[in-house]
Amino acid sequence: MDDRHRALARSYELSAGFLDTLDDRPVWPRATYEEMLKALGGALPAGGSDPADVITDLARLADPGLAGIAGGRFFGFVIGGELPAALGADWLTSVWDQNAGLNSVAPAAAAAETIAGRWIVDALGLPGGTTVGLATGGMMANYACLSAARHTVLARAGWDVNQRGLFEAPRVRVVVGRDRHDTIDRAVRFLGLGQDAVREVATDNQGRLDTAALASVLAADGGPVIVCLQAGEVHTGAFDPFGEAIEITRRHDAWVHVDGAFGLWAAASPRLRHLTDGMAAADSWATDAHKTLNVPYDCGVALVRDPAALASVFGVHADYLIEGQGDPTERVPELSRRARGFPVWAALRSLGGDGLAALVEQLCARATQMATGLAAIPGVEVVNEVAFTQVMTSFGDDARTAEAGRRLLAGGEAAFTPATWRGRGVQRCSLSSWATTAADVDRTVEAVRRVVASL
Ligand SMILES: *Cc1c(COP(=O)(O)O)cnc(C)c1O
Repeated sequence: MDDRHRALARSYELSAGFLDTLDDRPVWPRATYEEMLKALGGALPAGGSDPADVITDLARLADPGLAGIAGGRFFGFVIGGELPAALGADWLTSVWDQNAGLNSVAPAAAAAETIAGRWIVDALGLPGGTTVGLATGGMMANYACLSAARHTVLARAGWDVNQRGLFEAPRVRVVVGRDRHDTIDRAVRFLGLGQDAVREVATDNQGRLDTAALASVLAADGGPVIVCLQAGEVHTGAFDPFGEAIEITRRHDAWVHVDGAFGLWAAASPRLRHLTDGMAAADSWATDAHKTLNVPYDCGVALVRDPAALASVFGVHADYLIEGQGDPTERVPELSRRARGFPVWAALRSLGGDGLAALVEQLCARATQMATGLAAIPGVEVVNEVAFTQVMTSFGDDARTAEAGRRLLAGGEAAFTPATWRGRGVQRCSLSSWATTAADVDRTVEAVRRVVASL
């Protein structure tokens, strides 16, 4: 066997072994970052090692520092699992090692990306012809969409930002809900618009934008404006009132962007689609494939209604529109890039449209089951209205809530992560993995019950 075969054979063996441990291994890493620096550290040896041995060493050394994200009881942040077909395709993506920037050199990768993009646009009920770029995550998808937004609103004001840059340009306002995700602010800073460009709009107790407040913030000032709405608030899972909000923005010639890193996928389910009513009237949407769609890290999805708007920022060739969709690189910031289209294509192909809807509905059903189970434990309060995949809990005062979270992690049965909501300490629980079974939820509720009894 050549070295690559041996390295892959060893990787397969170790991969299968790892997956078999997921039911029993502690969900939270057993080792800290500092301990992992020690384990993996030391000076770079002068001599090399056998590739298969390196793989064996890596798996052994890394193991204590791995979280059980691929299993069914990791509920921290918003982190999806990996569907089997997507996992296999992701491995092949490394084996094939295509540079997916260009149609000519990587036609299979580019076509998989184009087709997967069309499937996503269809499944989410977005306008036909919406262009799709695959970036590293929701952060970069927000950035790509807001790049197109910045270019377009400035062009409408007679300013070519590609040519003239931002110095002396008309000021662009970016109107956001108070509970937008931090990556929106980060994107605004990357875009050179500055934090001062951000205008906050009040939200309700679930983090939903207040449309009357939106109208008055928009009316307070003139000039180019971008409005960022949200499908799925990261703590509560709440959705902005898109229909009414977008109607208001239309009076101001604003670009409307929707950050739907995990919530956009509600649109794929006939039973949950109502949460996103009106959303398709926006100009751009950002989501993740590595959250609700359960593709392995990393993959974000930038969707822009007007292909020319995205190409005007990232386009390389002047003949872009004559050539059709152009190269994948013309829809994202990167030039050379991983062939993310393969795992996304495989995930969607393995689910089918009905399976995709069923996956999203399953995540919501598990969230409801979790909320019901947790709320039945004396001393536990579910803080949010569970309308999607997010469940937020309090265990009494902030110190008690934080201690409960620490004990749950230490017990290893399940992982919640801490946050502050409206000044109050909470433990967040996100049902985002296809691998979470009803039994995993029951096991988690029992673990929480034991933690509460120990407090
Ligand atoms: C996770 C998340 C992001 C950021 O996405 P990454 O994939 O982590 O870059 C942005 N917005 C929301 C609402 C999110 O949940």
